[in-house]
Amino acid sequence: MDVNTASIINGKEEARKVREELKKEIEELKEKYSITPGLSVVLVGDDPASQVYVRNKTRACEEVGIRSFNYTLPATTDTRELLELIDGLNRRDDLHGILVQLPLPDHIDEREILEGISPMKDVDGFHPFNMGRLVTGAPLFRPCTPAGIMRLIDSTGYDLTGRDCVVVGRSNIVGKPMVFMLLERNATVTVCHSRTRGLSDKIGKADVVVVAVGRAGFVKGEWIKKGAMVIDVGINRTEDGRLTGDVEFDEAVKRASYITPVPGGVGPMTIAMLLKNTVESAKRRIGERP
Ligand code: NDP
Repeated sequence: MDVNTASIINGKEEARKVREELKKEIEELKEKYSITPGLSVVLVGDDPASQVYVRNKTRACEEVGIRSFNYTLPATTDTRELLELIDGLNRRDDLHGILVQLPLPDHIDEREILEGISPMKDVDGFHPFNMGRLVTGAPLFRPCTPAGIMRLIDSTGYDLTGRDCVVVGRSNIVGKPMVFMLLERNATVTVCHSRTRGLSDKIGKADVVVVAVGRAGFVKGEWIKKGAMVIDVGINRTEDGRLTGDVEFDEAVKRASYITPVPGGVGPMTIAMLLKNTVESAKRRIGERP
């Protein structure tokens, strides 16, 4: 019987490598320029999941030697007050990155806030300037999750040139920027969403499938073409409290050549790329990067 088992792409290990590289770069920045990269993380309200994300980001900063500055504001904060804080952070020389934890409370205008962050400190890469730079082929800050995915793909040595890639999901933070990063590598990209017809057929023809939908086990293992690469971005919590992805892993692993697990795949890369963007921002400030 022909039983294939995919290689598991180890996001935890790759993220550790990124952090090791960054530690060295940060040491150098300190020695050569007396600069310590600084990241400010702004949290509005008391959403428990957001608090965990912020804590993880702060801890990751400390581990590599990035100075982190946390701002926790009450849920009653309005758009103007938040913009005032961001304006102050934009002006500070010791801060190279500003991150506003999403989602924001409903009464705050998210678009106005994201556009209020200086594009030169927009380490999440969500500002329209940075999105525009990515789309026009001259990226400055790349959104962290798709940037992390590119690094995972590269870690396998896989050449994307001419490959048929299907991205499922078209969010501004994952799906759309993913499309342009794959295009940048000369892949042929199809982007699918909730109105797509014949999704399983499209996935069945893909050499690379990136899934960012947010539904446990949404992509069935049998849809995957034999030998395809499967990147599972989804983070879903099952009733018994486990984390699981958007792809039916146990079946997909039998058909794919490479697959990312959940947890331990894309997730750890997102924070690693945030740290990387912060260090790049500090380097850009002293003219070490264009
Ligand atoms: P969004 O909810 O913003 O986007 C989901 C996308 O899935 C939409 O484009 C939607 O289509 C599409 N979709 C929904 N139903 C279907 C369907 N039946 N068929 C095809 N497409 C469908 O999610 P995000 O991009 O923010 O996140 C997606 C997942 O990735 C979540 O589980 C999230 O937790 C996870 N995530 C993980 C990260 C990490 O670090 N690992 C980082 C960010 C997100 P439409 O546009 O038509 O509504």
